[in-house]
Amino acid sequence: MDNLTNINVIKDIFSRHGFTFSKALGQNFIINPSVCPKIAEYGNAKKGFGIIEIGTGVGVLTNELAKRADKVVAVEIDERLIPVLNETLAEHDNVTVINADVMKTDLHKVIEEHFQGLDVAVCANLPYYITSPIIMNLLESRLPIKSVTVMVQKEAGVRLCAQTGTRECGAVTHAVRYYSEPELLFNVSRGSFMPAPNVDSCVIRLNIREEPPVEVSDEGFYFKVIRGAFSQRRKTAVNSVSSSMGIDKQLVTAAVEEAGIQSTARPEQLSPAEFAAFADKLKEKIS
Ligand code: SAM
Repeated sequence: MDNLTNINVIKDIFSRHGFTFSKALGQNFIINPSVCPKIAEYGNAKKGFGIIEIGTGVGVLTNELAKRADKVVAVEIDERLIPVLNETLAEHDNVTVINADVMKTDLHKVIEEHFQGLDVAVCANLPYYITSPIIMNLLESRLPIKSVTVMVQKEAGVRLCAQTGTRECGAVTHAVRYYSEPELLFNVSRGSFMPAPNVDSCVIRLNIREEPPVEVSDEGFYFKVIRGAFSQRRKTAVNSVSSSMGIDKQLVTAAVEEAGIQSTARPEQLSPAEFAAFADKLKEKIS
């Protein structure tokens, strides 16, 4: 169905199906007709691609993805939307809807079963209550995908796409940049949704890297040090890592200095390469 941004059409479908919005599931559906075609175009929805969508709502983005890509697999947690989608996506024979929680779905298996011979990308207007866990799950599970193009809260988008070494940078910025090259694409006002949320949004694209930008001896430890460093932002990286990881301050100071970093540096001043050197030196010292 093409007119799924028309409020009267949506209201009619929902009243026939007895559907009401769930705030807990982050259900703010897009009603601005220019947004979904743009997400689909930026999101690699094109011939030769299979698209994973997370959270279909009424199917407004699913419809735009299905028109452009070879196949779409959409994961939607709310079973009340399944009969709605049977109606709104009826004209597409290249869409499979899986009624499940995306955090508990084996997306490697989905790709294997549905997207043989295709490149794969993820597109979504994400539920805001679970944005970062979904993104980190997609990245850390090292799915064979080209890109993740998602709508997120504006503030989250700024942090996810921040440059390392800037004030906006946090632990999640480093994690995102380890797996991908992020881009902030465009802003979307709160009035583009029904019901309207209290904040504006933006669409970001994470272009998945083939290789990480830095080499580390222990990836898990690298991320532990980064999370430790940012756990108390006002402190120096040394103090923060020492107290959050329970490691003697002198050892941490020595590791930082051997990595060529000033011991007074704050976490947001460190580059990925500096965190890598710091983590490797610290690992050596405590092993
Ligand atoms: N794509 C639609 C749109 O743009 O209008 C809906 C977006 S709405 C912000 C988020 C959607 O994600 C809702 O349909 C909600 O039910 C679904 N959702 C929430 N948590 C989910 C989860 N853990 N797994 C899969 N879908 C989820």
